This record gives sequence, structure tokens and C-alpha cells, in this order.
Amino acid sequence: MRDGGLGSWPARRARMTPDRTAVVHGEDRITYARLAARTAAVAGGLRRLGVRRGDRVGYLGPNHPAYLETLFATAALGAVFVPVNTRLAEPEVEFVLGDAGVSVLVHAEGCAATGPLLRERLVLGGSYDALRAAGPADLPDEPVGLDDPCVIMYTSGSTGAPKGAVLSHGNLTWNCVNVLVESDVASTEVVLVVASLFHAAALGMSCLPTLLKGGTCVLAESFDPGGALELIARHRVTTLFGVPAMYEAIAAHPGWAGADLSSVRALLCGGSPVPPATIRRYLDRGLVFVQGYGLTECSPGVLLLDRDAVRTKAGTAGVPSFFTDVRLVDPGGAQVGTGERGEILVRGPNVMLGYWNRPDATETALAGGWLHSGDVATVDGDGCYTVVDRVKDLIISGGENVYPAEVESVLCEHPDVESCAVVGVPDEKWGEVPYAVLVPRPGAVVTEDELRTFARSRLAGYKVPRGFEQWTELPRTGSGKVGKAEVRERLR
Ligand code: ATP
Repeated sequence: MRDGGLGSWPARRARMTPDRTAVVHGEDRITYARLAARTAAVAGGLRRLGVRRGDRVGYLGPNHPAYLETLFATAALGAVFVPVNTRLAEPEVEFVLGDAGVSVLVHAEGCAATGPLLRERLVLGGSYDALRAAGPADLPDEPVGLDDPCVIMYTSGSTGAPKGAVLSHGNLTWNCVNVLVESDVASTEVVLVVASLFHAAALGMSCLPTLLKGGTCVLAESFDPGGALELIARHRVTTLFGVPAMYEAIAAHPGWAGADLSSVRALLCGGSPVPPATIRRYLDRGLVFVQGYGLTECSPGVLLLDRDAVRTKAGTAGVPSFFTDVRLVDPGGAQVGTGERGEILVRGPNVMLGYWNRPDATETALAGGWLHSGDVATVDGDGCYTVVDRVKDLIISGGENVYPAEVESVLCEHPDVESCAVVGVPDEKWGEVPYAVLVPRPGAVVTEDELRTFARSRLAGYKVPRGFEQWTELPRTGSGKVGKAEVRERLR
């Protein structure tokens, strides 16, 4: 199909629902008609700057209307949008800009990063606004197809150097179709976008399906739990996506007990293993708390729990999305049986085209036509999947497999533990042993002996951490996941 690219979405929506609110940002309410006009103006401005089909346009800034305008405008030109993680250090930003060959960068004030191909910088509130104010331009009639690359999204780098997953217009569209089929997204949806838009989950699970359907995206520039509760009440938010750490912070906030959550239809959680204690906090409040599993390379949705099954299947990540197939295999590539652990392989129209400029990594990741996720799961008799952990995080202790997520979820059950991370540390006798780092709840005092006894009563001996350290906070990646590599580094 030609001309079905993301760049056409704002104009198509404006044709159907011009006066409905597409985006809320602070006091600014942007209708679909205005979003379409702004997008056309940014596309015109980028064109005047010389952006051509296939060029890369970067965005380094907060969740802001300019992100969406730049995405759609870039897509309309057949160019490729590269959102950059704002939590990266300057050399890391430079790596991404250089690797992707970004030529035009839209950024928040105060960014000093450069890239070898960077020709133009557009500053939010400055030259970006001026470019948009200059209005649209005649664009060449070069239709964009669903197979054309649309976005290069760098995996957050919680393991190894970041790789750019190239997502086509079709990949992102099919992910939206999956979400719309599964989640009954309504045109009255009001989604709170608190997770960062430089990650696939906020874009693919929150923003794009909502905009496709004609709902409203409330953009929060950064996450803070009190602010999120306030925005939910103020804008009558119906849904949001967050990683477990965000939901834990919201439930621990003093405003949680009295917060007005009456507009909320469902809450979506994923991005890392979800501790049962977190799920219970939300279910006990009568909220629909849905776990999902996905990864950047899949635009990102793969598994989603049905809303009707949140209680009966709590803790599972649900079933494969409608147009997406999942298989669990052993290290030899053979499919495993019900209840057995296997690596998650994914196939479907939402699976990336490949990694940018990394033919070897692409070949490995997409070997045999299936995406190799690097995550371990089990499947039950109803076809419902439980994500166990990452293959890379597996600790092998004296020949026994220890999945850190299992140990972490047990430690999180302790009333004095707010969050924790378990990693493997070298051991002469066992090769590797689990080791726990935890953050106690504010004001709580918990001893190592107490934690060991607690873990021993719930876990096999080889899974009980060899040591317990208490930190004031855990290192987090840009998406709010625990930075396991940094934890290992600090324990060295
Ligand atoms: P890397 O940089 O190593 O690719 P990442 O965290 O940066 O990792 P993302 O695409 O941001 O990559 O996140 C995808 C990963 O998040 C999955 O591969 C999986 O390990 C984890 N994940 C997502 N959802 C869940 C879930 N429901 N339960 C457990 N883990 C999950």
C-alpha cells in the first residue's frame, strides 16, 4: 500500500474529527485540525532545510507536542525519525546521533551534543517554533509505503551497546491494530503519557493507538507520582502505560489513598518483571491492572493480558497479540511443552525490519524468520504466558538456574522492602551466586539476618542471595527499569 504512512495520520484524523482534542500539554489543548496544520508546517520547514527521503531527523527532548509534530512531519517526507534518550550522557547521545547519521536535530534547550552529520539544530521555544511559524511548503508527490522505514529506536542499552531497531510505517501501524483489537481503545480515550516517548512502549502502547482512534494524549514532560495522580484526576484519564517502578511509586505516594481514580478504565504495566505485590496493590483497589510484554524490536507489543482475566491470570503477561505469533524454544531451537521454560520467539507484521547498519546482529536476531527476544517464559494450558526473566540475567549457581526476577518478587513481598535487584556475583565454589541489593521503605529498618530468614522460608537454598546490601536508590535506565549492568559494576 502506498500513501498509508504515519505522516498522513494527522491530516486523515483532521478530516474526520477536526475539533476533537488530540494532545494536551500543560494548559495547551491541541485539536486534530491544529495538529495537522502544525505537522504540515514542520514538514514544510524540514523540507526547506533540505531534509529528503531516507534522511534521519532526531528528537532529544521531553514528552512534548513537538515530538509528535516532528515524528509525523518526518514521516510525511519519507525521512526517518530518531528519538534520543534524554537520560544519556553526552558521549552516548553523540554515539546515537553518529550511528544513525542524524542530520537535523530538534532538541530542548541546553543540549551540547554534536554528531558527524549534524547540520541543523532546532531548539524548542526558539528556532523550532520559528521554523513551524514559517508555515507549510509544497511537498513532492512521493507516496510513502508501509514497508518504508519510519523510526529508528535505540534499545535502552540495559544490556550492551545500544542498537537502533528500524521500525517501518507498517510495523508501527500493525502494532496499533493489535492494540486496538485487544484493548477496546475508544475515541473517548484519554491516555496519560508519563513514560518517556523515546521508548517504544510510550509511543506504541499509548500515543499512536490513541491518535489513530481519535482519542486524547495528555503529555507529562517527566514522571513524578504526585503529578501523575493530579493529571489523572484533572483530565479524567482513562488509561496509562507505566513500568513497575512507576506504579510502585504512585502507590507509595501520600496522595494515593485519597486520589480520584474514578475515570480509570485500565492500567497497563510492562517493560520489566512485575512483582505480584505491585499487581495486588492495584487489584485490591478495584482497578483493572493489565500486564503486557513487549520489546522495542516488536514496535513493541507482543503479549497482553485480557482485561477480563486480570484476577484469574494475575502475574501472567497474557496471550499473543492478534496478528503476532509467539513460540517458546529450548537452546537447541526445539519447541518446549506446557509449563516448560523456553526463549520467546516472535513473528508478525510488527517485528522490526532489522538493526540499523548492523547486518550481523540483524541476522542473529531474526534467524529463521523469528525474532529472538532473549527473554524466557512459560506457557500454561490456556495459552497464557508468564515471562520469567531475561536469558542474559540468568544466574547459573552450581549448575542450578536462578532467575533473578523470581528472587526479587519474593524479596518485594517483605513489608520493609520498597524495591530490589538481584544479580550474580562470582563465587569460587559455585561459579556464581545470587546477591541482592535493596531499597528499604522510608523509615524502615531491616537486618540482613531477617531478610535471609524471610528468603529461606520461601526459596530453595541455592536461590537465597549470598549477601544483602541496602542502598538509598537503585540505578535506573531511561525507561525506569533497574540498570542491572550498573548494579553489577558497583558490586565489583
Ligand atoms: P536491551 O537494551 O537489552 O535490548 P531494553 O530493556 O533496553 O533491553 P526494551 O525494548 O526497552 O529493551 O525492553 C524490552 C525488554 O523488557 C524485554 O526484552 C524484556 O526483557 C523486558 N520486559 C518487557 N515487558 C516485560 C514483562 N511484562 N515482564 C518481564 N520483562 C519484560
